[in-house]
Amino acid sequence: MVSKHRARSQPRGDGVLLQEDSDAISYGNRQRPPQVGGYVAGPSCGAEQKQLKTIDQIADEIRAHKGCGFEPCEKATNMVPGEGNPNADVLFIGEAPGKNEDLQGRPFVGAAGKLLDELIASIGMKRDDVFIANVLKGRPPGNRDPKPEEIEHSWPWLRDQITAIRPKLIVLLGRHAMDWFLPDLKISADHGRAKRFRGQAYLPVYHPAAALYTGSLKDTLLDDFKQIPKLLEKIGELPEESPEIEPVFKLKVRKMLNQDAKPTAPVELAKQDTTNQESLL
Ligand SMILES: [Zn+2]
Repeated sequence: MVSKHRARSQPRGDGVLLQEDSDAISYGNRQRPPQVGGYVAGPSCGAEQKQLKTIDQIADEIRAHKGCGFEPCEKATNMVPGEGNPNADVLFIGEAPGKNEDLQGRPFVGAAGKLLDELIASIGMKRDDVFIANVLKGRPPGNRDPKPEEIEHSWPWLRDQITAIRPKLIVLLGRHAMDWFLPDLKISADHGRAKRFRGQAYLPVYHPAAALYTGSLKDTLLDDFKQIPKLLEKIGELPEESPEIEPVFKLKVRKMLNQDAKPTAPVELAKQDTTNQESLL
């Protein structure tokens, strides 16, 4: 059996190889999901990304990034790549850096971050055990909502992070993160309901910041977090979501086309790779 560490340290050529080496044999009884599928190891991996990047390389790239013309990147005090265990079983994905995160260059360091730490501790884990990232790596001015084209613009970094970490479970913190991965769900109805989509397991939950405004949501968050250890134990038993969830990028691209987007730089659209889709379902 190839250990997780050893398997990860081996260089991979491109997205196709990545998918081939992520099967059950490579990971023994670890029950690693097939890599987040065509869309993480998607066409841009094959075309542009010849070498799998490490978490540190991705972080360096994000911190050095400038000149794209998108407000969150251009106006950020510090870009916030995310941090944590590069071999984490659980990857938390929030929306975007806020004021404190922007100042410190670290994710979830304000009041919502304290609550996230508390939630993580409630399931017997530490912040160092998990990886914490956001959909956007720069703070939207005035904490406004991220724009679709900004999420598209930031996606390759998050995709690379997911590819490098290979989490068993992605916990989606709040509506914006959920909407990107699992479109057409409602956080009020679907929080705490784990789903597997294209091989990857997700658990949507409320954003911790929501509990700062609505106190009762803290209990809801605690309840939803309680599932995480059990989910990790039986992650292989989580059924695949119905394919009626339309692949995320088609939706996002359509939304973008319907909006008066004004990207000032070419937006890298991570198109859906259908080549290996069947093997992932
Ligand atoms: Zn940018």
